[in-house]
Amino acid sequence: MYEFNYQKATSVADAASKLSAGTDTRLLAGGQTLIAAMKLRLAAPTDIIDISGITELRGIKAGNGGLVVGAMSTHAEVASSKDVKTRIPALAVLANSIGDPMVRNMGTIGGSIANNDPAADYPAALIGLDATVKTNQREITADDFFIGMFMTSLEPGEIIESVTFPTPKRAAYMKFSNPASRYAIVGVFVAETDNGVRVAVTGAGASVFRVPEMEKALTAKFSADAVAGISVASDDLNADIHASADYRAHLITVMAKRAVETAVAG
Ligand SMILES: Cc1cc2nc3c(=O)[nH]c(=O)nc-3n(C[C@H](O)[C@H](O)[C@H](O)COP(=O)(O)OP(=O)(O)OC[C@H]3O[C@@H](n4cnc5c(N)ncnc54)[C@H](O)[C@@H]3O)c2cc1C
Repeated sequence: MYEFNYQKATSVADAASKLSAGTDTRLLAGGQTLIAAMKLRLAAPTDIIDISGITELRGIKAGNGGLVVGAMSTHAEVASSKDVKTRIPALAVLANSIGDPMVRNMGTIGGSIANNDPAADYPAALIGLDATVKTNQREITADDFFIGMFMTSLEPGEIIESVTFPTPKRAAYMKFSNPASRYAIVGVFVAETDNGVRVAVTGAGASVFRVPEMEKALTAKFSADAVAGISVASDDLNADIHASADYRAHLITVMAKRAVETAVAG
C-alpha cells in the first residue's frame, strides 16, 4: 500500500506552509522521478504537496537579463518556446533531447534540477550558461547549486521558483545518450558568455562539472581544434554497464569538439 497525505498547493506561500506538515513531506512537480521512486519503494513520503497548479511557477519570459524559465515549465514547453529558440537555441535542443514525449510533457525544469540526477541534461545547461536559480528564499548561482550526486544546496522547505539564463554569444549542447532512456552517458554544454567561456559536463561524474582546461583553450581560440587534444582524467568518472570510465573520458573530448563545431556553425 502507498500511504501518504496528498494536498494541492494554490501558491508558493501555500506550498511552503504545507511543506512543514509531515515527517517526510515532498513536493510533486511532473512526477517523472518521484512517482517512479515511490513505485520502486525508494521513496515513501508521508505527505505530498502537488505544485502543478501553481500558476506563478509557470511561463517563460524574455527580458534584459536573459530568459526566466518558471520551475513548472515542462521540457516540451522549453523545447517549443519561441523565446528559447530565438535567444538560446541550444537550450531548446537540450530540452527536446530529454527522455520521450511523455517525460517531456510531464517533467519540469524545477523537478529535474532539484533531483540532480548525475545523468540529467539541465544541470549542464545551468552550469554552461552561468544560470541563477531563484527559490522562495534566495538566489543561488548554478555553480553553488549542484553539490553532489542527487544533491543540491536547497535547504529543507526551499522551493525553486524559476531559473534565469543569461543570453550567451553562442552555445551548443552535444549528448551521447543512453539509447533506452536518453539520459546522458556523457553530455557537454559549451557556451561563450559575456563572462567568458564555460564547458559543463553531465553524465560522466557524480554530478555536473566544469572543465577549466577546455575553457582556457577556448578562450584563447574558440574552435574545435582547441579542445581536440584535451582529455579529462578518468579516475573519478562513472563506470557502469553502459560505459567504462575511460570511454566516458574519451566521449567528453568528442562531445566537446562537436559542441564547439555546432556553436561556431550557429
Ligand atoms: C523514462 C524516463 C526517461 C528520462 N530521460 C531523461 C533524460 O534523457 N534526461 C533528463 O535530464 N532527464 C530524464 N528523465 C527525468 C525527467 O527529466 C524528469 O522530469 C525529472 O527528473 C524530474 O522532473 P519532474 O518535474 O517530473 O519532478 P518530480 O518527479 O515531481 O520531482 C522530482 C524531485 O524534485 C523535487 N521538486 C520538484 N519541483 C520542485 C521545486 N519547484 N522546488 C524544489 N523541489 C522540487 C521533488 O520534491 C522531488 O524530490 C527521464 C525520466 C524518465 C521517467
